[in-house]
Amino acid sequence: MTETIHTLVIGGGQAGVATSAHLQKRGIPHLVLERDRIAERWRSWRWDSLVANGPAWHDRFPDAEFTDLDPDSFAPKEAVADYFARFASDRNLPIRTGVEVTNLKRQGSSFHATTSTGMIAARNVVVATGPFQKPVIPTVVTGSDITQLHSNGYRNPAALPQGAVLVVGGGSSGAQIAEELVRAGRRVYLSVGPHDRPPRRYRGQDFVWWLGKLGKWDMKAPTPGTEHVTIAVSGAYGGHTMDFRRLAELGITLLGRAGKYHDGVLHFADDLATNIANGDRNYLSVLDEADAYARANGLDLPEEPAARALLPLPDCVTTPTLALDLKREGIATVIWATGFQLDFGWIDLDIFQKDGRPRHQDGVTEVQGLYFVGLPWLSCRGSAFIWGAWKDADRLAAHISARG
Ligand SMILES: Cc1cc2nc3c(=O)[nH]c(=O)nc-3n(C[C@H](O)[C@H](O)[C@H](O)COP(=O)(O)OP(=O)(O)OC[C@H]3O[C@@H](n4cnc5c(N)ncnc54)[C@H](O)[C@@H]3O)c2cc1C
Repeated sequence: MTETIHTLVIGGGQAGVATSAHLQKRGIPHLVLERDRIAERWRSWRWDSLVANGPAWHDRFPDAEFTDLDPDSFAPKEAVADYFARFASDRNLPIRTGVEVTNLKRQGSSFHATTSTGMIAARNVVVATGPFQKPVIPTVVTGSDITQLHSNGYRNPAALPQGAVLVVGGGSSGAQIAEELVRAGRRVYLSVGPHDRPPRRYRGQDFVWWLGKLGKWDMKAPTPGTEHVTIAVSGAYGGHTMDFRRLAELGITLLGRAGKYHDGVLHFADDLATNIANGDRNYLSVLDEADAYARANGLDLPEEPAARALLPLPDCVTTPTLALDLKREGIATVIWATGFQLDFGWIDLDIFQKDGRPRHQDGVTEVQGLYFVGLPWLSCRGSAFIWGAWKDADRLAAHISARG
C-alpha cells in the first residue's frame, strides 16, 4: 500500500516544523516525517549545558515567544527543543515521529519515499534534514589509550576520562566546550583556526541585533575568501564575547590549526597568531560598522570605547607550540569540534554537486516540486538559523502553493 500526500516534509527539526506551519497557514495538505523526536538534534546531538547562541527574543520563530524565559536570556537546549515540540502540538501540525525516510526518488510526476513504515507518494517534497548531518573528523589519531569524540558526542566534563583534553576547532562549539572543561578544572588545549568573533554586546545591544541592523543576516553569500571561517560566539554564563586571550587567561593553551598526526605526535600549523589577529580584526570591524551605523542613523546608544581595549597576547600565541606529544602531555581525550557534512546518500536524484550540496536557487531545485530548507546559506546567511529557516520556509510554502 502506498500512502499519497500532497506535500511531504522530511525532517522534524525547526526547519521542518517551520515549513509545516507555513504550509498549514496556506491550507496545503502535508505530512512531516521525523525519524526520532521533534527537534531531536537539539536534544541528543548537543552537550548538556548548551544554551542558544542568541538571546530568547531573537532565537525563536517570529510567531511564538518563549513563555518562561527572560527575552534577554539564552535558552537552554532542552528548552529550545521543548519550544519546537510545543509549537508543533499547539498548532496540531501533522508530524509523524519515529519514521525514517530511507530512499527518495521520482516516478512519473510524483516522488516516492521509502520509509521505515511503508511507501509514500507525494507531489512535492521539502527536505529539511538539517544543516549539520554527518560529523567530520579531519585527522586520524591512533592509540587505544586516547578517547576521541566529535563535539556532537560530548556531554559534560565528568563524562570524559581523567586527564588533559585537546579540543580541535575554535568555532562556537570548540570554544564553548574548551571553556567548560577548563572551568571544571581540566587541563585544556584548544586548536584555533580562522574565525570571526563578534562582540557579544556593544553599546547596549546584542550582536544579533547589530547583525540585523547592518544587514548581515540577509547577506546572500559569504564574503569571498571567508567560506571556511567559523564563528565563535557564546550565550553561556549569561553570554560573553568569545575572546581567545581570555580563554588563555583561564588556563587554556591555544594552538594553531591541527595538521598531521604521526607516531603519537599531533602537529599544528604556525598560524595561531594570524588567526587571532584576523579574529581581532573581525571583532573591531563589527564595532566600527556599528559606530558608523549609529552615527548615520542618529542612534542614541551609549558609546563604549573600552570595548576596543584588547588583553595582551598570551605566551602560547607569541611562542606557539607546533607539535604535541599527546601521551607526554597527559592528553586522554581529543574532542573534534570540526563541523559537519551533508549526507543525502538516500536521495536518488541527480541534483547534487561534487561537494554533496544540492543545486538550488534559494531552496527551489531544478526538479519540479523538490525543495530544500534549513541549509547554510540557502537564501542568505540566516538560513540555517531558527529565524532564517522560518523566513525561507514561508517563501517555499508560497512557491508550493503557487505550483498547486
Ligand atoms: C552546537 C550547535 C548550536 C547551535 N545553536 C544555534 C542557536 O543558538 N541558534 C540558532 O538559530 N541556530 C543554532 N544552531 C544552528 C541550527 O539552528 C541547528 O543546527 C538546528 O538544529 C537546525 O535545524 P534543522 O531543522 O534545519 O535541522 P535539524 O535540527 O538537524 O533537524 C533535522 C531533523 O531531520 C531528521 N532526519 C534526518 N534525516 C532524516 C530522514 N532520512 N528521515 C526522517 N527524518 C530525518 C533528524 O532526526 C532531525 O530531527 C546550532 C547548531 C549547532 C550544531
